[in-house]
Order: sequence, then C-alpha cells, then structure tokens
Amino acid sequence: MSKVIIQGCKNYDLENLIEKLNNGMEKLGGWNQFVGPGDIVLLKPNLIGPKSSDSAAITHSEFLRAMVRILKGKGCIVWIGDSSGGAIAGIAPTAQSFKVSGYERVAEEEGAIIKNFDSEGVVEVQPKGKFQEKMYLAKPIFDADVVINLPKLKTHSAGIYTGAVKNVFGCIPGLRKAKYHKMAPNPEDFGEILADIHQASKLHLHIMDGIIAMEGEGPTAGSAYRGGKILISKDPLALDAVAIKMLGIEMEDVPILKASIKRGVGEGSLENITIEGDYTTIPKLENFKLPKRFRSNKRRNYNALIKVIDFFETRPKVNLKKCKDCNLCVESCPVEAIDKATKKIDYPICIECMCCHELCIHQAVDLKKEKFLANLVAGLSQRR
Ligand code: SF4
Ligand code: SF4
Repeated sequence: MSKVIIQGCKNYDLENLIEKLNNGMEKLGGWNQFVGPGDIVLLKPNLIGPKSSDSAAITHSEFLRAMVRILKGKGCIVWIGDSSGGAIAGIAPTAQSFKVSGYERVAEEEGAIIKNFDSEGVVEVQPKGKFQEKMYLAKPIFDADVVINLPKLKTHSAGIYTGAVKNVFGCIPGLRKAKYHKMAPNPEDFGEILADIHQASKLHLHIMDGIIAMEGEGPTAGSAYRGGKILISKDPLALDAVAIKMLGIEMEDVPILKASIKRGVGEGSLENITIEGDYTTIPKLENFKLPKRFRSNKRRNYNALIKVIDFFETRPKVNLKKCKDCNLCVESCPVEAIDKATKKIDYPICIECMCCHELCIHQAVDLKKEKFLANLVAGLSQRR
C-alpha cells in the first residue's frame, strides 16, 4: 500500500504553511525519517519558465520558503535546483526563471543555495525502458543526500495533467529537453522518458503545491484556481493518482502515467492507496476546468477516437496580436517548425509536442480547434 497525505491549506501564509507541512509529515513518519543534520537536501520545484509565483505556473516561492525554513531548522544544507524549458538566443532561460519566480530572493533570505541545472554538470545514466539511448541528468540530483520533488498541481493542454511524475523532466538540463520531445512526441512514449528519470534518480519525497492550482490551458497559459491542498507522499504515482481524482480525471485519461504504472515507478490504483491527513477520502475540486480539448466527458470516454480526432483538430497557432517576437517558441521547437519571421507553423513537420504553447510566457500560442473534416483532409494529404 502507498500512502498519500492530503492537507487543507487556504493560502501561502508562512506560519500556517509550515504547520500544515509539519503535521502532514508526522503522518508519514516524521521529517527525521527523511532528513538529518548536515544532510544536503535538494528541492526540485516546478520552475517551467520565467513566470511569477502569482501566475500559478510554478511552485509558489512561499511554498519553497516554508520548505527551506523547515529543513534549515533541522540542520540541513538546502539546495534549490531546476532547469526551465525552452531557449532564448540559444540559451535555456533558467537563470532568468530563478529571478522572476522569486526563488533567488528566497534563497538569499533563507540561506539556501541555487543550483541551475544547466550549469552544474551531468551524470550519465542508462535507461531501462523503451528508449535505450544514454541519458544525461543534472548532477546535483546525485550529489544531494536527499531529493524532494515539489510539483505544482496543474492542467496540461497536451497531456491533460502535470504533477509529480512529470516534474522530473526538469532534471534534464537545458536544451537537451527538446531532443526527448522529438524522440517521444506522443504522451505514452514521453511517459517512458519520465519513468526512466524516476528510476535513475530515485527521489525520496514528493510534496505538491496545490494551494493555488492552474486550471484551463496549463501548464503556463491557464488560470489560477484556489485548490487549497497540499499532497505529500513517498510515491509520485500514488500522489498523481490522488491528484487527478481530485480533478475528476481517470488514470486511463493520462497517457504519460501509463509507463510509470507498467514499470513500477509507484502505485497507480486507488484501491492500494491510503489517504491520511486533514482528509480520509479524496476531496473533489469543484468546477475545476480541464483544458478545452478534454472538457467533454462523452469525448473522454472514447479515448481511441479522441486520439484520432484531436490529432487533426487541435493545433498550435501563434496569435500575432499577442506575440512579442521573443522567439522562445522558434528556438525551442524540437523540429524547427516555426518560421522566425512570420511565426507560421509548418504543420507537416510539427510533431504536436505543444512545447511552443507550453513555453510562451505571453500566452501567444493558441491551440486552435478547426473543422474536423477540413483538417482531416489537410492532415491526410500533408502528414508524414
Ligand atoms: S509566440 Fe511570440 S511571444 Fe510567444 S514564444 Fe513565440 S515569439 Fe515569443
Ligand atoms: S510547432 Fe510547437 S507543437 Fe509543433 S513541434 Fe514545434 S514546438 Fe512542438
């Protein structure tokens, strides 16, 4: 059996947050089971890009502050590490993300050390799943004594949901991420890469910031939703199984989690997960909006058909009225499908990874739904 602790927590008030985290950890056996004085503890938040904490796109900086303060109080050396997605002028925007998010300020004020995964070196690992090519993961993950994953509760326009399992993708430094999107463009295969990272890096604890979640067109272009929850578990898949249930999503609707179930990253069945903390059953987040393409229950019940329909129906398109010409999407596209001058997307080349939509901090990449039949004809004639 896996255990997931669900704590109610309405805001980022530091004192209350620390209390909720400490009480939740008691139910998991206490902090001392995981950390001790002198331990180097790496916190791995969701720092997807240069976004503010209020955007709900990243793990909130006050959530991070609470974690740093607790761990420093236990005599630990605390690192905060991640690598953001995308590229600007050929460079991943991680340094900028640490500033804009407020993480750098938290680190300075609380005495933590920032580890920009793009410049800390890598460790070579051999994946055990479908893709056998060697993988290079950020070195601090292996140098730290304890690694704590701090995902954000969010929707994902391409994969419906992103949480504890997906958050490890930031362990791949810098621009290498694009290579994996290219290698595994469909969500199920992408899930294999995530399972590889989990099996190689062995994170110790997973604590989700679901206080202000993101609904709608996540992971960056959605809206803030008052979720009021913190989820804690040793098992990332069990945590995600509980989180998606809170959102009204079934496990079969989240293809990126399939490989983690198959490969034993954790427990995916709710029957084998116990709930403790402020809740003993899984609370539902009322009126939580899924991404548009997943909103109809009827459609979600016909997964195979949806795959075919969505394949032709939903495409990224740059909205030139909102576009600031930063070229983050152009430089981050793993197959160079976006024209730098016009921002037109070459759909026969596009692998529909949705990175451009995910990474545009100006929310200028829309996911366009167009007439199915017209797209079907166009798709059949153009697609490789
Ligand atoms: S759509 Fe425009 S603003 Fe958004 S990432 Fe691309 S170039 Fe930048
Ligand atoms: S255009 Fe966007 S969705 Fe298509 S491959 Fe490039 S980044 Fe991915």
